[in-house]
Amino acid sequence: MERNEILRKLPKVSDLLDEAPIKALKEKYGRWAVLSAVRQSIDEIRRALEKALEKGFEDAVSEENLKKEALDRAIELVDKYRSHNLKRVVNATGVVLHTNLGRAPLPEEALKNILEVASGYSNLEYDLDEGTRGERYDHIRGLLCDITGAEDAMVVNNNAGAVLLVLSALAAGREVIISRGQLVEIGGSFRVPEVMAQSGAKLVEVGTTNKTRISDYERAINENTALLLKVHTSNFKLVGFWSEVKIEELKSLGLKYGIPVMEDLGSGVLVDLKKFGLPPEPTVQESVKAGADIVTFSGDKLLGGPQAGIILGKKEFVEKIKRHPLTRALRIDKLTLSALEAVLKIYRSGELERIPVIRMLIKSPEEMEKCARKLAAELQKAIQGKGTVEVIDDISQVGGGSLPGVELPTKAVSIELQAFGPDDLARRLRMTRIPIIGRIKKGKFLLDVRTMSEDDLKIVSEMVGSVL
Ligand SMILES: *Cc1c(COP(=O)(O)O)cnc(C)c1O
Repeated sequence: MERNEILRKLPKVSDLLDEAPIKALKEKYGRWAVLSAVRQSIDEIRRALEKALEKGFEDAVSEENLKKEALDRAIELVDKYRSHNLKRVVNATGVVLHTNLGRAPLPEEALKNILEVASGYSNLEYDLDEGTRGERYDHIRGLLCDITGAEDAMVVNNNAGAVLLVLSALAAGREVIISRGQLVEIGGSFRVPEVMAQSGAKLVEVGTTNKTRISDYERAINENTALLLKVHTSNFKLVGFWSEVKIEELKSLGLKYGIPVMEDLGSGVLVDLKKFGLPPEPTVQESVKAGADIVTFSGDKLLGGPQAGIILGKKEFVEKIKRHPLTRALRIDKLTLSALEAVLKIYRSGELERIPVIRMLIKSPEEMEKCARKLAAELQKAIQGKGTVEVIDDISQVGGGSLPGVELPTKAVSIELQAFGPDDLARRLRMTRIPIIGRIKKGKFLLDVRTMSEDDLKIVSEMVGSVL
């Protein structure tokens, strides 16, 4: 058949718009969405057909088949337009702070406050007492200072930004002394030496990979030294013949020469994790108490809040940082700020179990056993004898470059199906209406209950049922 003759068999937009299912969609979702879906559908089929013809495609194509194909695809596209690209998923990986899955889920109080603040206007930069311009940091400064004992505080978009900003504001064109053991890379290509270069500060490395002494810092000090920097090696662990210099010692040295001390903590722990039976992490309070002039940390790691970079410490330095032009480029938005304020209030109230990240980290074995049994029973029903479901003991991780090497004993449910293997099941569950992200271990598909909520348990069985 002639090429043009075949292409003429493609349905026209108006043909499809007259079809009953399309008319129904138009009623429901409006003409615009449906029209673009129909156009895109016909376009896609035309392109596929042209490609096939170039390759010498010879089969007969009927107008009827093409129309049916275009119709099905248009209906699919309307559905796709309606669902968002960025959407909720179920984290069944057991990794509590999974950076690819959005790190910390927010507590209810934070969600409520986002809704409240963002659905109308707010006093973001407005002083209600005076009726004049205010500062966006006013909303969290008091809370952060109360909780940590710091003199002053501000927040930017994320901790990488916070570190870049502090270095730019306090050390550009001058020298920053740091231990060779702390020249770390955090995931997503945040490398301390590169951030330093970007800020215009000159890196002065001292000591060795495993041992740095206070005398190493002292020898490197000169009239061009702007800052003594300590970076918490948050995502790996050195064991054996190893030591680093404490903030207290750096502070004494800083005082002797009139040089400020900065600590980048990475994970912003505001509570003593030992209290929950977890290994200790340096807290923000400890750093402030030990005399750090500036401390930086993330809002969405162990703190369990929204993505943010918190900067706190001595007023004179925070003030100087605020005046740097990068502050404006890295500024925090009102949604984040409203969530962060709500999370910090929870810390001040002491009801830490309201914070999902903390709740997941301290889930009891009994609770996880109960959840796993419940999930297994639901799944058993969903798969209707077409495979096996089992509750097993496993290990979950903290993730997010926090508490490296810490193994949290957990309960997981393993699914083995007759119809398809673990990789295939994992792929299919990523494609469901609410995607389920599990993990595969020793040829089995696992769902770790540590990172799942009550709601998630129901969703998982529904989605597993839908792929069968
Ligand atoms: C995670 C981390 C950062 C980067 O923080 P983001 O919130 O991911 O921008 C910087 N420094 C340290 C030590 C970290 O652990």
